[in-house]
Amino acid sequence: MTQGSEANPRPMPKLVASCLTRAEHGMVVENESSQEVIDARNGIVEFLLINHPLDCPICDQAGECDLQNLSYDHGMEGTRYEEGRRVFDKIDIGPYVQLHMTRCILCYRCVYAAEQLTNERVHGVINRGDVSEISTYIQNAIDKDFSGNIIDVCPVGALTDKTYRFKQRVWFSKPFDAHRNCTKCSGKTVIWKKGDDIIRITARKNEFGEVEDFICNECRFEHRDLNDWTIEGPREMDKDSVITANKYELPVVSPAVNVDAKFVSE
Ligand code: SF4
Repeated sequence: MTQGSEANPRPMPKLVASCLTRAEHGMVVENESSQEVIDARNGIVEFLLINHPLDCPICDQAGECDLQNLSYDHGMEGTRYEEGRRVFDKIDIGPYVQLHMTRCILCYRCVYAAEQLTNERVHGVINRGDVSEISTYIQNAIDKDFSGNIIDVCPVGALTDKTYRFKQRVWFSKPFDAHRNCTKCSGKTVIWKKGDDIIRITARKNEFGEVEDFICNECRFEHRDLNDWTIEGPREMDKDSVITANKYELPVVSPAVNVDAKFVSE
């Protein structure tokens, strides 16, 4: 939310996203300091949850889901929605990616990512209004190289990794930065280990949860042997992320934060 500045005293007529608004001298930006902004965020989250199922306990995205985090911060305890939720027939979109259309919030991130990364995008949003849905064109399979990145950009559990489905809660696995020589991509990934097994491979994400380097399907799906990878070390996660649970060395000597805590490697 922004107010007017000395140079341009006209106040913004409505709330705008401050990260997308050009900065001006003297501009005042308010975020959680404004009740109006908090109310707007609460309202948007309420809208996002209208059709979203509350299946976090069985959803593979739990623990790394943007919508789960948003609902934790801004969600209501109950719902005011009285209509039926959207339901969809199951469709198979290929060997690598599982689509759960009921969880989709139609953000289009997977469509934009596939448009930019794959040489022939084969999926998109069909229909309009409350019957809009992600679909492949005439039941094509999403199997183009680099198409696995749509899993990483999906903010909810609508697109999940078929090779990882129901294998593990993410906070019980340990992420490591690793790389391999790859002719198609940078080969820089995060491998998620359970014991000595690699149970999932993802791209690396930055502090904002955005992918740093998109990776090819070969690195993501076809190299599950530890010998294929050079492990650089434990992946640093956000300290508030549930993924860090059980991954720091004790003892914590006082209730104060233990600044010397170290990530436990295997
Ligand atoms: S990225 Fe996920 S939530 Fe967004 S449109 Fe695609 S499937 Fe739906």
